[in-house]
Amino acid sequence: MRVDLHMHSDASDGALAPDELMKLACSCGCGIVSLTDHDTLSGNALAAETAAELGMKFISGVEISSLYADKTIHVVGLGLDPKSATVLEFFSESGPKREARARVMDERFREFGIEGALEGALKFAGSMETLSRTHFARFLVEVGHVAKYEDAFSKYLRDGGPCHVPTKWPSVGEVVEFIGRNGGVPVLAHPGRYKFSSSWMIEELIKLFKDSGGAAIEVSSGSQPSSMNEYFAAAARRFEFLASTGSDFHAPGSIRPNPGMQEQIPADLTGVWTLF
Ligand code: AMP
Ligand code: MN
Ligand code: MN
Ligand code: MN
Repeated sequence: MRVDLHMHSDASDGALAPDELMKLACSCGCGIVSLTDHDTLSGNALAAETAAELGMKFISGVEISSLYADKTIHVVGLGLDPKSATVLEFFSESGPKREARARVMDERFREFGIEGALEGALKFAGSMETLSRTHFARFLVEVGHVAKYEDAFSKYLRDGGPCHVPTKWPSVGEVVEFIGRNGGVPVLAHPGRYKFSSSWMIEELIKLFKDSGGAAIEVSSGSQPSSMNEYFAAAARRFEFLASTGSDFHAPGSIRPNPGMQEQIPADLTGVWTLF
């Protein structure tokens, strides 16, 4: 039985509706799943219902944008109540931030002679409030400004890239504390994907995450090179974290693995799903 605790639906920047995604996860052999859209739990109700119909264990989830040393760090929150008023209030600020950022990004693209980026990206997004860099990347591919999705990031959208507009997300510590206060389990997402200028910074981030109340890390992820998995499995042992794993699936046919097809966790580590 495969586990996948990190996937996206069209409630954020994934291509499939939450029910379609759960059907795909089931057909890929997943038995324990979560839906972790960016800064929203809005797809969780439909995903939970579909997962239950298909006989999969569903853990509610969200991938929260946060900041550490001016970098965007993603923290997955597992087990939050999607209907809780305090949870909904926390995320009520994310949509307006995404919309405001998208408008500035549109201006940046115009400076590169690329017109209509906002409307073009919006066609791929559910709403202004869920607009993500992924949607801009899909637009750039669609109109032929870049040949491949990844080129949109290397050329324009990567952190520090000319059309990436930094967002004032809450700090890593604030996000971890928010998740813990609301009965959730904080998981450091794809730790191998943060490109720090010095290697000690990832250790500092992991320490800060632990000290703030972080409980688990993704020791394997479809969005980090599998050659890094052993390093983070060792970190989980050193810091006594529970282990999580996820494909970070966004869309069929991408370079990332299908749901549940990422490497699973080493046998000696305890899966974070055992808490649920
Ligand atoms: P946002 O939350 O709008 O800043 O967008 C971040 C999303 O863009 C991530 O969740 C990924 O899906 C995608 N992303 C970020 N960096 C890259 C990259 N270098 N290559 C491909 N996708 C990326
Ligand atoms: Mn994404
Ligand atoms: Mn992420
Ligand atoms: Mn993700």
